[in-house]
Amino acid sequence: KNPNSISAKDQTYHLHPYTNLKVHEEQGPLVISRGQGVRVFGEDGKEYIEGLSGLWCTSLGFNEPRLVKAAQTQMEKLPFYHSFSSKVPDVTAELAERLVQVTPDGLDRVFFCNSGSEANDTAIKFVWYYNNARGKPEKKKIIAREKAYHGVTVAAGSLTGLAYAQNGFDLPASERILRTGCPHFYRYGQEGESEDEFTTRLANELEQLILSEGPDTVGAMFAEPIQGAGGVIVPPQSYFPKIQAVLKKYDILLVADEVICGFARTGKMFGSEYFGIEPDMMTMAKQLSSGYLPISALAVSDHLYQTIKEQSNALGVFGHGLTYGGHPVPCAVALEVLKIYEERDILGQVNAVSPYFQERLQSYRDHPLVGEVRGVGLIGAIELSADKATKTPFDPGLAKAAGLMKKCEENGLILRAMPGDCVAFCPPLISEQPDLEELFNRFDKALAAIG
Ligand code: PLP
Repeated sequence: KNPNSISAKDQTYHLHPYTNLKVHEEQGPLVISRGQGVRVFGEDGKEYIEGLSGLWCTSLGFNEPRLVKAAQTQMEKLPFYHSFSSKVPDVTAELAERLVQVTPDGLDRVFFCNSGSEANDTAIKFVWYYNNARGKPEKKKIIAREKAYHGVTVAAGSLTGLAYAQNGFDLPASERILRTGCPHFYRYGQEGESEDEFTTRLANELEQLILSEGPDTVGAMFAEPIQGAGGVIVPPQSYFPKIQAVLKKYDILLVADEVICGFARTGKMFGSEYFGIEPDMMTMAKQLSSGYLPISALAVSDHLYQTIKEQSNALGVFGHGLTYGGHPVPCAVALEVLKIYEERDILGQVNAVSPYFQERLQSYRDHPLVGEVRGVGLIGAIELSADKATKTPFDPGLAKAAGLMKKCEENGLILRAMPGDCVAFCPPLISEQPDLEELFNRFDKALAAIG
């Protein structure tokens, strides 16, 4: 094998994230060299439809010239400035205003970070700072759900409720993290239980957890509107109103992690709007810049902000900030992204194509290998099952979804396999119906090849 090939360099020098490192060293990477619209191209020129928008982020596809121009213009004008000590790049303040305008009512201030993990870590620190400021320092525990994905940094990674992201690390923050149930009715609904009874049970379990820990020790709950990496788990509509009522009763904040759902993915600007969530804080990333540059944001309520402000005055400084938080280049790109979403009516686009997307997805319902199909807007998943009637999963050793992904790649389609043999679909928001037709036609071939 040529040691100067890209593959060899990657196998020899690159420590890969989220990869079986031993297998990777033996088999090498799929090298992607170029992107265009909803497609990417391998170094050998092979074309793929990117059915997961990279990692749920390239909403505007892979070669939007306006974003390139926005980055270049900003690079030339001011390639770096920070926001510490009351300085600020002009575009950063502009983006803060724009985000307050597009986020749901009640979120009035924005803090910038560089990744979803950092935004969630920051939200955790805000919960602690806020509760200290209002004289409730013992309200430190944070509730997260089974199958949650909130990132990989030490605190956000502790909220994540997926074994593959935690095994081997023994994260230290676990004594402050509480775990509650995942609202996946197909998997966790009990025999004879209605959806409504299921969500009532989850709300009761949440309340019992809070009572057994002591409401005075619980500060916040984090929740993705749709749990993405956990398997695109779409909660019943009655779930969030019941959960939120319990949290309000015990003065516990709700942090909506909109890192995947944010910016039109569900057919609403935010997943919170789709599910009737009124968050005290919201974290955003990915589609905020269409994935073109790293940026994330945390939006907070005015009440929270005012409390934090008073405390910072008492302490002399609000002691939290990142060198690259609010970096002018990603901010300029994000401003342009939000402009494009508005000018091209991205919500209208998603709502125009999502009935076709969901219909094609639902067509797999009757397939003998498929246990459940779920989705909203332009996000969805199918869950493979060894036995439809009993919902029995496949033996994990068979790596059924991973095998399906290989067949997808052979047929020019990139999707993502997730725990429990789920396959996620999250195409760019600019996908037109013919793109989606081609995506599903390729998927049909891959499914036939493993069936
Ligand atoms: N929150 C959610 C819902 C995510 O899906 C992700 C990443 O996929 C994160 C947080 C972490 O984001 P990042 O990888 O940018 O740290």
